[in-house]
Amino acid sequence: MAYQIRKAAVLGSGVMGSGIAAHLANIGIPVLLLDIVPRELTKEEQAKGATLEDKAVRNRIAAGSIQKLLKQKPAPLTAKKNLQLITPGNLEDDLNNLKDVDWIIEVIVENLDVKKSLYEKIDGVRKDGTIVSSNTSGISINAMVEGRSEDFSKHFLGTHFFNPPRYLKLLEVIPANTTAPEVVEFMTAFGEDRLGKGVVIAKDTPNFIANRIGTYGLLVTLREMMARGYSIGEVDSATGPLIGRPKSATFRTLDVVGLDTFMHVAKNVYDQTSGEEQQVFKAPEFMATMVQNGWLGAKSGQGFFLKKDKEILELDPETLEYRAAGKLKTPSQEMAKQQKGLAAKMKTLVYAEDRTGELLWSILAPTLRYSAELTGEIADDIVAIDNAMKWGFGWEQGPFETWDAIGVKKSVEMMKQEGHPVPAFVQALIDSGNETFYKEENGDLHFFDGTSYQPVPVNEKVIDLKRYKKKHGVIKSNSGASLIDLGDGIALLEFHSRSNAIGMDIMQMINFAVDEVEKNFKGLVIGNQGKNFCVGANLGMILMEAQDDNIFELDFTIKTFQNAMMKIKYSNKPVVAAPFGMSLGGGAEVALPAAHIQASMETYMGLVEAGVGLIPGGGGNKELYMKQLKGLPHGVTVDYQNIASKVFESIAMAKVSTSAEEARETNFLNFVDGISVNSDHLIYDAKQAALSLYENGYQAPLREKVPVTGEPGYATLLLGAEGMFISGYISEYDLKIAKKLAFVLSGGKVPYGTKVDEQYLLDLERQAFLSLVAEPKTQQRMQHMLVKGKPLRN
Ligand code: NAD
Repeated sequence: MAYQIRKAAVLGSGVMGSGIAAHLANIGIPVLLLDIVPRELTKEEQAKGATLEDKAVRNRIAAGSIQKLLKQKPAPLTAKKNLQLITPGNLEDDLNNLKDVDWIIEVIVENLDVKKSLYEKIDGVRKDGTIVSSNTSGISINAMVEGRSEDFSKHFLGTHFFNPPRYLKLLEVIPANTTAPEVVEFMTAFGEDRLGKGVVIAKDTPNFIANRIGTYGLLVTLREMMARGYSIGEVDSATGPLIGRPKSATFRTLDVVGLDTFMHVAKNVYDQTSGEEQQVFKAPEFMATMVQNGWLGAKSGQGFFLKKDKEILELDPETLEYRAAGKLKTPSQEMAKQQKGLAAKMKTLVYAEDRTGELLWSILAPTLRYSAELTGEIADDIVAIDNAMKWGFGWEQGPFETWDAIGVKKSVEMMKQEGHPVPAFVQALIDSGNETFYKEENGDLHFFDGTSYQPVPVNEKVIDLKRYKKKHGVIKSNSGASLIDLGDGIALLEFHSRSNAIGMDIMQMINFAVDEVEKNFKGLVIGNQGKNFCVGANLGMILMEAQDDNIFELDFTIKTFQNAMMKIKYSNKPVVAAPFGMSLGGGAEVALPAAHIQASMETYMGLVEAGVGLIPGGGGNKELYMKQLKGLPHGVTVDYQNIASKVFESIAMAKVSTSAEEARETNFLNFVDGISVNSDHLIYDAKQAALSLYENGYQAPLREKVPVTGEPGYATLLLGAEGMFISGYISEYDLKIAKKLAFVLSGGKVPYGTKVDEQYLLDLERQAFLSLVAEPKTQQRMQHMLVKGKPLRN
């Protein structure tokens, strides 16, 4: 059967149900969101004279959850308008509508009997072939499907999202014994391609993969913390970014998850295991007291941490009182910070004979052994386990990658000395004469499967640039960027400077790349796999030149930048920009002139130069204006002023989109630009876009004159800015910047509708930039941003 999901239903509109519904709406799928019918009227409903029979009352829970989506942080919706795709209903009146959907996702309370009785009802109404899945955190999928019809059983499986569903990458797909292989295959592909997730197939065991190992790791951390006398703050200072884990480390993660949820997840494994393993899953007494006290973490305002008058306090598990949060400061931490690469850092930390070393070894060693013991039982292979931990818990390396990093041989020796048995899987590796779980052969990665090495499956849509460069080399490279042959006639220009900030090195590489592509390739992709696409121009360099009054050098730099952007725009081979994450200032300016933008769904784009006392200097003002002029549908009368005002507002307020879809609403992207839901597919998608443009006979755009609003436009923009100054929204200096911006955007002293050259606009822009950069207040703003990482409004 060729499955297709055109419409879905989410049953249960709590934390996860509403988040999953939002994520489906984000990718354009209409969703029916159903929840239980309330048994009592609220005071407001009583006051209005409503009855329990009213539709609004009966749908109240789901409807309320939908409204909450607008207020939640981080935002579950990529654009407010997606809310229209979610229709509320209830589990009594609307069950019959389930016959019209292609996928039913159950996200109700974690209780086998309640879930089973709901499935019985669904079984009676769903049409054959409808996929039904559960978001359970750990109830057996096989137990849930017991007693269901044959067609239901063939189409039932677990689809375990992580919280929050829009942002967390992992989707565990858990087949039941009865699930048809083609259903598993379809959901795996759908999860990856449409939902944008990293899909891992898990076996039907308690808590599946990530929560089984993750919960174990967290509980071992608690155990060792108490046994060895560390404080909560100390543990967090050693178990976060230092070891390639999220900033929220151990206890802040627990505060975010919610203590009640965590205890529930831990108990689920406790109830289904025995012996030593079971003892680990027994949460310490003080946590039960915390739950009783309602100290559940972020949702109740206090948990392991409490913020008081801007100070972060940590809980003392002995006294249950809060005190100033501690931090570990040890020689090994200092040493690790100097080292490059997580593997080197881990080796230093784990074997260090200080407090950090002792803590990390005591936590890591059992977690690694536990992962090895479970291989085969919870997942088919170590790749699935490593991926689950990376995607579900935000670890930079999974357990087996970590083990390779610290050295299997040395760590196993230590474990033996401490009297711990070596897991059979690890013993098999040692007996086979090998020392690592992963091995590279001819640039391809292989993993140990218990007897021999197997190739890690290659997904053509996931291009790992680090690995790709190792295997294929680069065409040319300098300190800030490299040009790579991506194959099939497409080249990739990769930024890799610090924060991917644009300096002379990157500009030189852009010039080289476009020349090279025009000669020898079909198209160019500008993309990378750093933390962010690009945070803008190299501010440090600009400030230094400005402080030295090197206006001539600055003029040359800005001119070079503008020319490079024009080169991208007028390349006779298609250039596709692939922004993701922060794509700010110069980062947005690189993307705007490209023939096509293929953006990651999570793209935060904006021309934010005003925040550092500047206006865009690489043609961004003109490009954003021109993109809007071009983006108008046929038949719409062009109102230049309206467009100039929108662009003015966006740049003067340094607005940043919270998603690619929002960037579309602010016209950084237009309707032919693409959005990749799966960030791992971004480079591949951009490459396909470049190929398709080439194959469709791409021509560089014509050099057309730009109609501007001139003096009347300048006056209009100024009026708005002055109004904001008078009402106290912007500072006097903001007004000064706004005036310069207004002058550039309106095209200076010309009549309304005058058509000017692009170069004329670029010259206006450069002059304005250079006059602002020489101002002390602009230099203060730049300095503040460089030192504090935040804008200064002076
Ligand atoms: P929640 O408490 O926020 O929501 C539960 C939903 O179930 C509510 O909408 C509630 O009205 C509904 N409900 C309550 N009793 C019901 C009944 N008798 N019949 C039908 N519906 C009923 O819980 P949640 O955190 O969203 O969890 C939902 C599911 O997702 C659970 O299976 C949970 O294990 C799983 N899960 C939770 C997380 C998480 O981090 N919270 C993560 C992954 C999976």
